[in-house]
Amino acid sequence: MTSPATACILDGKLTSQNLLDSLSLELAQIKAQGAPLPKLVVVLVGDDPASQVYVGKKAKTAQKIGMLSELLTYPADTTQAELLAVIARLNQDASVHGILVQLPLPKHIDTLSVIRAIDPKKDVDGLHPLNMGLLMTGDPSACKPCTPAGVMTLLKAYNVPLAGQNAVVLGRSNIVGKPMGMLLLQENATVTYCHSKTADLAAVCREADILVAAVGVPNLVTADFVKPGAAIIDVGINRLDGKLVGDVDFTSASQKAGFITPVPGGVGPMTIVTLMANTLFLYRQGQPTA
Ligand code: NAD
Repeated sequence: MTSPATACILDGKLTSQNLLDSLSLELAQIKAQGAPLPKLVVVLVGDDPASQVYVGKKAKTAQKIGMLSELLTYPADTTQAELLAVIARLNQDASVHGILVQLPLPKHIDTLSVIRAIDPKKDVDGLHPLNMGLLMTGDPSACKPCTPAGVMTLLKAYNVPLAGQNAVVLGRSNIVGKPMGMLLLQENATVTYCHSKTADLAAVCREADILVAAVGVPNLVTADFVKPGAAIIDVGINRLDGKLVGDVDFTSASQKAGFITPVPGGVGPMTIVTLMANTLFLYRQGQPTA
Protein backbone atom coordinates (compact mmCIF):
# COMPACT_ATOMS: atom_id res chain seq x y z
CA MET A 1 0.00 0.00 0.00
CA THR A 2 1.29 3.51 -0.84
CA SER A 3 1.28 6.19 1.83
CA PRO A 4 -0.55 9.48 1.14
CA ALA A 5 1.16 12.37 -0.64
CA THR A 6 3.40 14.41 1.62
CA ALA A 7 4.10 17.13 -0.92
CA CYS A 8 2.41 20.52 -0.85
CA ILE A 9 -0.08 20.63 -3.72
CA LEU A 10 0.44 23.57 -6.05
CA ASP A 11 -3.23 24.27 -6.63
CA GLY A 12 -3.64 25.82 -10.07
CA LYS A 13 -7.40 25.91 -9.78
CA LEU A 14 -7.38 28.03 -6.65
CA THR A 15 -4.49 30.25 -7.75
CA SER A 16 -6.03 30.88 -11.14
CA GLN A 17 -9.40 31.70 -9.56
CA ASN A 18 -7.78 34.37 -7.38
CA LEU A 19 -6.17 35.88 -10.46
CA LEU A 20 -9.38 35.69 -12.48
CA ASP A 21 -11.15 37.59 -9.69
CA SER A 22 -8.67 40.45 -9.94
CA LEU A 23 -8.82 40.44 -13.75
CA SER A 24 -12.63 40.69 -13.48
CA LEU A 25 -12.24 43.79 -11.34
CA GLU A 26 -9.85 45.39 -13.85
CA LEU A 27 -12.26 44.66 -16.69
CA ALA A 28 -15.17 46.09 -14.72
CA GLN A 29 -13.15 49.30 -14.25
CA ILE A 30 -12.44 49.53 -17.98
CA LYS A 31 -16.14 49.04 -18.67
CA ALA A 32 -17.13 51.66 -16.10
CA GLN A 33 -14.80 54.15 -17.79
CA GLY A 34 -16.67 53.56 -21.05
CA ALA A 35 -13.48 52.45 -22.80
CA PRO A 36 -13.57 49.63 -25.36
CA LEU A 37 -13.10 46.22 -23.75
CA PRO A 38 -10.17 43.93 -24.51
CA LYS A 39 -11.02 41.25 -27.05
CA LEU A 40 -9.49 37.82 -27.54
CA VAL A 41 -10.04 35.84 -30.73
CA VAL A 42 -9.29 32.12 -30.71
CA VAL A 43 -8.91 30.39 -34.06
CA LEU A 44 -9.46 26.65 -34.29
CA VAL A 45 -8.82 24.68 -37.47
CA GLY A 46 -9.99 21.07 -37.63
CA ASP A 47 -11.83 18.82 -35.25
CA ASP A 48 -9.21 17.64 -32.74
CA PRO A 49 -11.36 16.78 -29.69
CA ALA A 50 -8.77 17.93 -27.11
CA SER A 51 -8.36 21.28 -28.90
CA GLN A 52 -12.14 21.70 -28.98
CA VAL A 53 -12.23 21.29 -25.19
CA TYR A 54 -9.37 23.77 -24.68
CA VAL A 55 -10.81 26.49 -26.90
CA GLY A 56 -14.22 26.05 -25.28
CA LYS A 57 -12.67 26.61 -21.85
CA LYS A 58 -10.79 29.67 -23.06
CA ALA A 59 -13.90 31.29 -24.53
CA LYS A 60 -15.97 30.47 -21.44
CA THR A 61 -13.39 31.93 -19.07
CA ALA A 62 -13.17 35.15 -21.10
CA GLN A 63 -16.94 35.47 -20.96
CA LYS A 64 -17.01 34.82 -17.20
CA ILE A 65 -14.59 37.62 -16.39
CA GLY A 66 -16.25 40.11 -18.74
CA MET A 67 -13.70 40.08 -21.55
CA LEU A 68 -14.86 40.08 -25.14
CA SER A 69 -14.03 36.89 -26.98
CA GLU A 70 -14.75 35.21 -30.25
CA LEU A 71 -14.13 31.65 -31.31
CA LEU A 72 -13.58 31.16 -35.03
CA THR A 73 -13.73 27.54 -36.17
CA TYR A 74 -12.73 26.27 -39.60
CA PRO A 75 -12.84 22.80 -41.12
CA ALA A 76 -9.77 20.54 -41.22
CA ASP A 77 -9.37 21.05 -44.97
CA THR A 78 -8.95 24.83 -44.63
CA THR A 79 -5.96 25.85 -46.74
CA GLN A 80 -2.98 27.72 -45.40
CA ALA A 81 -3.85 30.67 -47.66
CA GLU A 82 -7.37 30.78 -46.21
CA LEU A 83 -6.03 30.73 -42.65
CA LEU A 84 -3.49 33.44 -43.45
CA ALA A 85 -6.32 35.57 -44.85
CA VAL A 86 -8.23 35.17 -41.55
CA ILE A 87 -5.17 36.27 -39.60
CA ALA A 88 -4.59 39.26 -41.89
CA ARG A 89 -8.18 40.35 -41.25
CA LEU A 90 -7.80 39.99 -37.48
CA ASN A 91 -4.50 41.90 -37.59
CA GLN A 92 -6.34 44.81 -39.24
CA ASP A 93 -9.31 44.74 -36.88
CA ALA A 94 -8.70 47.41 -34.21
CA SER A 95 -11.26 45.82 -31.87
CA VAL A 96 -9.12 42.67 -31.57
CA HIS A 97 -6.27 42.74 -29.02
CA GLY A 98 -5.24 39.10 -28.79
CA ILE A 99 -5.11 36.40 -31.46
CA LEU A 100 -4.57 32.79 -30.48
CA VAL A 101 -4.30 30.08 -33.11
CA GLN A 102 -4.93 26.81 -31.31
CA LEU A 103 -2.16 24.28 -31.94
CA PRO A 104 -1.62 21.72 -33.33
CA LEU A 105 -2.74 22.75 -36.80
CA PRO A 106 -3.59 20.16 -39.46
CA LYS A 107 -0.43 18.71 -41.03
CA HIS A 108 -0.83 20.46 -44.40
CA ILE A 109 -0.48 23.87 -42.71
CA ASP A 110 2.95 25.23 -41.83
CA THR A 111 2.65 26.28 -38.18
CA LEU A 112 5.62 28.64 -38.23
CA SER A 113 4.28 30.55 -41.24
CA VAL A 114 0.98 31.01 -39.45
CA ILE A 115 2.62 32.18 -36.23
CA ARG A 116 4.82 34.60 -38.17
CA ALA A 117 1.71 36.06 -39.81
CA ILE A 118 0.20 37.14 -36.47
CA ASP A 119 0.83 40.79 -35.65
CA PRO A 120 3.39 40.54 -32.79
CA LYS A 121 1.35 43.18 -30.92
CA LYS A 122 -1.61 40.76 -30.90
CA ASP A 123 0.40 37.58 -30.41
CA VAL A 124 -1.20 36.56 -27.13
CA ASP A 125 0.75 33.30 -26.77
CA GLY A 126 4.09 35.03 -27.38
CA LEU A 127 5.15 32.60 -30.08
CA HIS A 128 6.06 35.07 -32.84
CA PRO A 129 9.85 35.17 -33.35
CA LEU A 130 9.85 38.84 -32.31
CA ASN A 131 8.23 38.03 -28.97
CA MET A 132 10.50 35.00 -28.52
CA GLY A 133 13.47 37.31 -29.09
CA LEU A 134 12.14 39.88 -26.60
CA LEU A 135 11.70 37.09 -24.08
CA MET A 136 15.23 35.89 -24.69
CA THR A 137 16.62 39.37 -24.02
CA GLY A 138 14.49 39.83 -20.91
CA ASP A 139 12.55 42.74 -22.42
CA PRO A 140 9.52 43.56 -20.24
CA SER A 141 7.40 44.30 -23.33
CA ALA A 142 7.53 40.60 -24.31
CA CYS A 143 4.22 38.79 -24.25
CA LYS A 144 5.25 35.51 -22.62
CA PRO A 145 3.92 32.13 -23.74
CA CYS A 146 0.90 31.32 -21.57
CA THR A 147 1.84 27.91 -20.21
CA PRO A 148 5.38 28.64 -18.98
CA ALA A 149 4.34 32.09 -17.75
CA GLY A 150 1.47 30.44 -15.86
CA VAL A 151 3.91 27.98 -14.28
CA MET A 152 6.05 30.88 -13.06
CA THR A 153 3.01 32.56 -11.53
CA LEU A 154 2.12 29.35 -9.72
CA LEU A 155 5.66 28.83 -8.39
CA LYS A 156 5.72 32.41 -7.12
CA ALA A 157 2.25 32.13 -5.55
CA TYR A 158 3.60 29.33 -3.36
CA ASN A 159 6.93 31.06 -2.71
CA VAL A 160 8.89 28.18 -4.23
CA PRO A 161 12.54 29.29 -4.09
CA LEU A 162 13.93 29.95 -7.58
CA ALA A 163 17.21 31.88 -7.36
CA GLY A 164 20.24 29.64 -7.22
CA GLN A 165 18.12 26.51 -7.55
CA ASN A 166 18.76 23.75 -10.07
CA ALA A 167 15.87 23.70 -12.53
CA VAL A 168 15.49 20.90 -15.05
CA VAL A 169 13.06 21.35 -17.95
CA LEU A 170 11.98 18.15 -19.61
CA GLY A 171 10.98 19.01 -23.18
CA ARG A 172 12.24 21.61 -25.65
CA SER A 173 9.18 22.71 -27.62
CA ASN A 174 8.82 26.35 -28.64
CA ILE A 175 5.50 26.60 -26.85
CA VAL A 176 6.51 25.18 -23.45
CA GLY A 177 10.01 23.80 -22.89
CA LYS A 178 12.24 26.49 -24.40
CA PRO A 179 10.45 29.54 -22.95
CA MET A 180 10.05 27.71 -19.62
CA GLY A 181 13.81 27.47 -19.27
CA MET A 182 14.23 31.13 -20.23
CA LEU A 183 11.77 32.28 -17.58
CA LEU A 184 13.45 30.17 -14.90
CA LEU A 185 16.82 31.57 -15.96
CA GLN A 186 15.45 35.09 -15.62
CA GLU A 187 14.67 34.24 -12.00
CA ASN A 188 18.29 33.17 -11.53
CA ALA A 189 17.73 29.42 -11.50
CA THR A 190 20.46 27.23 -13.00
CA VAL A 191 18.69 25.65 -15.92
CA THR A 192 19.22 22.31 -17.68
CA TYR A 193 17.14 21.24 -20.67
CA CYS A 194 16.37 17.57 -21.26
CA HIS A 195 14.72 15.98 -24.27
CA SER A 196 14.19 12.70 -26.09
CA LYS A 197 17.94 12.27 -26.70
CA THR A 198 19.11 13.05 -23.15
CA ALA A 199 21.27 10.30 -21.67
CA ASP A 200 20.26 8.98 -18.24
CA LEU A 201 17.24 11.19 -17.88
CA ALA A 202 16.39 10.04 -14.35
CA ALA A 203 19.88 10.91 -13.06
CA VAL A 204 19.71 14.44 -14.54
CA CYS A 205 16.22 14.97 -13.12
CA ARG A 206 17.33 13.80 -9.65
CA GLU A 207 19.57 16.90 -9.49
CA ALA A 208 16.56 19.18 -9.90
CA ASP A 209 15.22 21.38 -7.14
CA ILE A 210 12.55 22.35 -9.68
CA LEU A 211 11.54 19.81 -12.31
CA VAL A 212 9.17 20.81 -15.10
CA ALA A 213 7.86 17.95 -17.23
CA ALA A 214 6.47 18.99 -20.64
CA VAL A 215 6.84 15.84 -22.69
CA GLY A 216 3.52 14.20 -23.48
CA VAL A 217 4.48 10.73 -22.18
CA PRO A 218 2.10 9.51 -19.47
CA ASN A 219 3.70 8.86 -16.08
CA LEU A 220 7.27 9.18 -17.41
CA VAL A 221 8.47 10.90 -14.25
CA THR A 222 8.43 8.44 -11.36
CA ALA A 223 9.77 8.78 -7.82
CA ASP A 224 13.15 7.67 -9.18
CA PHE A 225 13.40 11.03 -11.02
CA VAL A 226 12.64 13.10 -7.93
CA LYS A 227 15.11 14.74 -5.56
CA PRO A 228 13.60 14.71 -2.04
CA GLY A 229 11.82 18.02 -1.43
CA ALA A 230 11.86 19.13 -5.09
CA ALA A 231 9.09 21.13 -6.77
CA ILE A 232 7.54 18.98 -9.52
CA ILE A 233 5.56 20.76 -12.22
CA ASP A 234 3.54 18.53 -14.52
CA VAL A 235 2.63 20.25 -17.77
CA GLY A 236 1.68 17.04 -19.59
CA ILE A 237 -1.90 16.34 -20.58
CA ASN A 238 -2.38 12.78 -21.74
CA ARG A 239 -5.39 10.55 -22.05
CA LEU A 240 -4.81 7.10 -20.59
CA ASP A 241 -7.62 4.56 -20.35
CA GLY A 242 -10.17 7.35 -20.65
CA LYS A 243 -8.55 9.36 -17.84
CA LEU A 244 -6.52 12.58 -17.93
CA VAL A 245 -2.99 12.02 -16.67
CA GLY A 246 0.16 14.07 -16.74
CA ASP A 247 3.78 13.21 -17.47
CA VAL A 248 4.37 12.60 -13.77
CA ASP A 249 3.35 9.52 -11.83
CA PHE A 250 1.65 11.59 -9.14
CA THR A 251 1.23 8.76 -6.63
CA SER A 252 4.92 7.88 -6.36
CA ALA A 253 6.40 11.33 -7.08
CA SER A 254 4.24 13.11 -4.49
CA GLN A 255 5.74 11.00 -1.72
CA LYS A 256 9.21 12.37 -2.38
CA ALA A 257 8.51 15.87 -3.69
CA GLY A 258 8.20 19.03 -1.58
CA PHE A 259 5.70 20.62 -3.99
CA ILE A 260 3.73 19.07 -6.84
CA THR A 261 1.04 20.07 -9.34
CA PRO A 262 -1.94 17.78 -9.90
CA VAL A 263 -3.37 16.89 -13.32
CA PRO A 264 -6.00 18.14 -13.82
CA GLY A 265 -6.09 21.28 -11.67
CA GLY A 266 -2.43 22.30 -11.86
CA VAL A 267 -0.87 23.90 -14.92
CA GLY A 268 -3.99 23.78 -17.15
CA PRO A 269 -5.98 26.49 -15.31
CA MET A 270 -2.81 28.60 -15.02
CA THR A 271 -2.45 28.53 -18.82
CA ILE A 272 -5.99 29.81 -19.24
CA VAL A 273 -5.72 32.62 -16.70
CA THR A 274 -2.42 33.69 -18.27
CA LEU A 275 -4.12 33.86 -21.65
CA MET A 276 -6.62 36.29 -20.13
CA ALA A 277 -3.86 38.28 -18.41
CA ASN A 278 -1.87 38.42 -21.66
CA THR A 279 -4.88 39.75 -23.58
CA LEU A 280 -5.23 42.52 -21.03
CA PHE A 281 -1.46 43.13 -21.20
CA LEU A 282 -1.58 43.54 -25.00
CA TYR A 283 -4.68 45.73 -24.69
CA ARG A 284 -2.90 48.02 -22.22
CA GLN A 285 0.20 48.19 -24.41
CA GLY A 286 -1.98 49.31 -27.31
CA GLN A 287 -3.84 52.02 -25.38
CA PRO A 288 -2.65 55.62 -25.63
CA THR A 289 -1.02 56.69 -22.34
CA ALA A 290 -2.70 59.59 -20.54
P1 NAD B 1 6.00 18.56 -27.97
O1 NAD B 1 5.61 17.21 -28.48
O2 NAD B 1 6.11 19.70 -28.90
O3 NAD B 1 7.40 18.42 -27.21
C1 NAD B 1 7.67 17.33 -26.39
C2 NAD B 1 9.11 17.40 -25.95
O4 NAD B 1 9.37 16.28 -25.12
C3 NAD B 1 10.12 17.35 -27.09
O5 NAD B 1 11.02 18.42 -26.90
C4 NAD B 1 10.83 16.00 -26.94
O6 NAD B 1 12.21 16.10 -27.18
C5 NAD B 1 10.59 15.64 -25.49
N1 NAD B 1 10.42 14.21 -25.30
C6 NAD B 1 9.60 13.37 -25.96
N2 NAD B 1 9.72 12.11 -25.49
C7 NAD B 1 10.64 12.16 -24.49
C8 NAD B 1 11.17 11.21 -23.61
N3 NAD B 1 10.80 9.94 -23.64
N4 NAD B 1 12.09 11.62 -22.73
C9 NAD B 1 12.47 12.92 -22.66
N5 NAD B 1 11.98 13.88 -23.47
C10 NAD B 1 11.08 13.50 -24.37
O7 NAD B 1 4.98 18.85 -26.78
P2 NAD B 1 4.53 20.24 -26.07
O8 NAD B 1 3.66 21.00 -26.97
O9 NAD B 1 5.71 20.89 -25.44
O10 NAD B 1 3.62 19.62 -24.92
C11 NAD B 1 4.12 18.72 -23.95
C12 NAD B 1 2.98 18.21 -23.10
O11 NAD B 1 2.39 19.30 -22.43
C13 NAD B 1 1.84 17.56 -23.87
O12 NAD B 1 1.29 16.53 -23.08
C14 NAD B 1 0.82 18.67 -24.03
O13 NAD B 1 -0.51 18.18 -24.17
C15 NAD B 1 1.00 19.37 -22.72
N6 NAD B 1 0.62 20.78 -22.72
C16 NAD B 1 -0.12 21.18 -21.66
C17 NAD B 1 -0.47 22.52 -21.54
C18 NAD B 1 -1.24 22.94 -20.34
O14 NAD B 1 -1.81 24.00 -20.34
N7 NAD B 1 -1.26 22.15 -19.27
C19 NAD B 1 -0.10 23.43 -22.53
C20 NAD B 1 0.68 22.99 -23.59
C21 NAD B 1 1.04 21.65 -23.66
